[in-house]
Amino acid sequence: MNESNREPTLSVVDPTIAQLIADEERRETVKLRLIPSENYVSRAVLEASGSVLTNKYSEGYANKRYYEGQQIVDEIENLACSRLCELFGADHVNVQPYSGSPANLAVYFAFCQPHDPIMGLGLPAGGHLTHGWNVSITGKYFQSHAYGVRKEDHRIDFAEVRALAKEHKPKLMWCGTTAYPRILEFDKFREIADEVGAVLAADIAHISGLVAAGVHPSPIGIADVVTSTTHKTFRGPRGGMIFCKKEHAKAINRAVFPGLQGGPHNHVTAGIAVAAKEASMPEFKTYAQNVVDNAKVLAEALAGKGFDLVTGGTDNHLILLDLTPKNVPGKVAAQALDKAGIVGNYNSVPFDPRKPFDPSGLRIGTPAITSRGMGKDEMLKLADWMDRVVAAPDDDALLTQVAREVEELCRSFPPPGIPA
Ligand SMILES: *Cc1c(COP(=O)(O)O)cnc(C)c1O
Repeated sequence: MNESNREPTLSVVDPTIAQLIADEERRETVKLRLIPSENYVSRAVLEASGSVLTNKYSEGYANKRYYEGQQIVDEIENLACSRLCELFGADHVNVQPYSGSPANLAVYFAFCQPHDPIMGLGLPAGGHLTHGWNVSITGKYFQSHAYGVRKEDHRIDFAEVRALAKEHKPKLMWCGTTAYPRILEFDKFREIADEVGAVLAADIAHISGLVAAGVHPSPIGIADVVTSTTHKTFRGPRGGMIFCKKEHAKAINRAVFPGLQGGPHNHVTAGIAVAAKEASMPEFKTYAQNVVDNAKVLAEALAGKGFDLVTGGTDNHLILLDLTPKNVPGKVAAQALDKAGIVGNYNSVPFDPRKPFDPSGLRIGTPAITSRGMGKDEMLKLADWMDRVVAAPDDDALLTQVAREVEELCRSFPPPGIPA
């Protein structure tokens, strides 16, 4: 028996946490997880990110570290970077940001001074907090001018983007979304950024897996900087990455370290390297295509049942439903659906008359259920369950019955990364 086998396991050292993790494994197994920013990582990614690499400090970058003992970590970080650059066709990538929000902060730090004018899609229109929304540090430390979507079709209002850009001359312009079901037209943003001399940053946190697989257009080569999380459609561990053109590599690296962070999370870097390898396989292309196909099938089925879809449908992995015509607030629907084993999140819709904590919408997506191998038949069942639950969110007997049916279906589609 070696040393590690004699060491007590988690369930011996901390049975409470061990049990809670087991409970979460069960929750992730028996429910349909529709939160569009969530996914399942593979067992391989889990192994890499739960490794001894968490023990190592390595401030700096490969061959320029501030501590000794980097022989192995340097190789891992170089592999993560070279795989990602090849996969995305990028000049340079930094994989050290702790998550998506710190990656975005590093972009501000690289290109802006405090109080500089910046632009991003407003939160209520489907943008992210870190693109200058007022409760975020990015809205407080910079002079933020939010653009929105058009009243008539809820698509990005490029006339407004151009007018605001000409008026305020932003240093930095964000394009990227967290609740927008349509293709992002990066070239249109590029045109406007060029007209006013702004740095264009694309935040592909939600869609980087789709971009890697070629089922959503890529901003690489169009935007000056591209940020992303690694844990959404990309199916890596929780982390962040920043791609940029060669001329910005130094500024980005300096902004991440020593500008914003200390030591990188090497166990996460290893997990990202594994995810990058997985995302370069033909199976991943199929996966990403299935994510989009499933979202379309689900959207059409829901529309057929009288649901109001923001923008009328979807081009990507997510669907935003305006529940106003169903006379059910988003939160009531989300809570009833969760009881029925269907987990989404309540969300504002564009021009929402209700408050952000009690909005009119529900946001759902197909990345996680597609990772389980679900397809068209399951999407149709899901639309049917959602319809029944939203029609009677207070009917506890119905919610219990649907939860039972959901669990039964889930049994046939074991998720990646979770032991049966
Ligand atoms: C999720 C997301 C982020 C933030 O990522 P965290 O890892 O939660 O910090 C940033 N931008 C967009 C567009 C996102 O969807």
